Amino acid sequence: VSGDYEPIDQEFLDDFATLSSFGATPAGGVDREAGSPADLAQRAWFAQWLTDRGFRVHTDDIGNLFGMLEWVPGAPVVLTGSHLDSQPLGGRYDGAYGVLASAHAAHRLNQKVAAGGWRPSLNLAVVDWFNEEGSRFTPSMMGSSVFTGKLAGSAALATTDAGSVTVAEAMADSLGQPWTTPVQSYAEIHVEQGRILEDTGVTIGLVTATWAAQKFDVVVTGEQSHTGSTVMADRHDALVGAARLVVAVRELAERFADAPLHTSVGRFDVLPNSPVVVPREVRLNIDLRSPDPAAIAAAVDLLRTTIAAVSVEVGVEIDLALSHAWDQQPYPAAGVSLAAAAAQRLGLSHQEMMTIAGHDSTNLKDQVPTVMLFVPSVGGVAHNEGELTADEDCLAGVALLSEVLTDLCSEAPAILR
Ligand SMILES: [Zn+2]
Repeated sequence: VSGDYEPIDQEFLDDFATLSSFGATPAGGVDREAGSPADLAQRAWFAQWLTDRGFRVHTDDIGNLFGMLEWVPGAPVVLTGSHLDSQPLGGRYDGAYGVLASAHAAHRLNQKVAAGGWRPSLNLAVVDWFNEEGSRFTPSMMGSSVFTGKLAGSAALATTDAGSVTVAEAMADSLGQPWTTPVQSYAEIHVEQGRILEDTGVTIGLVTATWAAQKFDVVVTGEQSHTGSTVMADRHDALVGAARLVVAVRELAERFADAPLHTSVGRFDVLPNSPVVVPREVRLNIDLRSPDPAAIAAAVDLLRTTIAAVSVEVGVEIDLALSHAWDQQPYPAAGVSLAAAAAQRLGLSHQEMMTIAGHDSTNLKDQVPTVMLFVPSVGGVAHNEGELTADEDCLAGVALLSEVLTDLCSEAPAILR
């Protein structure tokens, strides 16, 4: 990049290195699922970082962590953030980059206010949304779903992990009161997790819409028996049924290659998972995504046909239950043009694109005007310890987010409506 801004911010890079030390893995990634000791430790560090710089720290009733700058008493707030939690053996940049970029951008704006160089009309708050990843506790985007009223707080708090620990127990010392300040708008920056920006040599992605997604919990029920003595005709092997489904899900993507359709099975639990036992039950989940909701609907129809056939052929029961879904929906066009103008001012190359992954902004955009920004991911590597975004791209993103937040905080009321 050769943007019109200070290209080196050692303090940001140092803070990012510190953040990456929480739950650090030998292969250069991080492992800090929501509410884990590593997640709680980094939240404590981040809360102290905010306090040290004059932010008022608040934790809400599902564990979202806020840092508020109140410049205009009683005014609504512009929110900016992402998530600090990670997948198991995840990367350093997914979510954490966006939270730290938001914090540094907000701190820069606060310094400008303190120096008398700028008078905002709205207040600004940074947020670390609880459990965006949904790996330990499902569904994903839990904190922002509760915040936006899409998921009941009581249901989220009662959710259990694989060891039967509830969210309420994991977050017992980290829960506070609901957030009550009106939110005027939201801005999030995230690593792309794909390689469109890298392939096109562009620094900034301006997100115009999100792909649609449907996620299913599947239970395949057979009958437990002896792997040696049970004659083949008498077997009801849940694992055979599940394996047929895994292959069918993969083949769905090939049938909708033009849509396109992304499919996978990401979790697979075999019961009793014992060497001399024909499995009685397999639990798995299916994840379908496409920019075209009709393609997902058609794929689900095909999947149901396959399930009916496999049930008969293998002699198992297969239960398919929708667990989480969102539609293909646009981000506000006014926010895209606001961000494009800001990138233009900084001399940053930019292009419009869709987001394939869900983000907390997927929830926020349904409630308030929302801006979603991407910076490049090297090789498109995501949910992997090898995630990487170049320092210069990280810093370009902080500069752009600072500009966008300046615009969002400058105008009232409701700049994007
Ligand atoms: Zn993320």
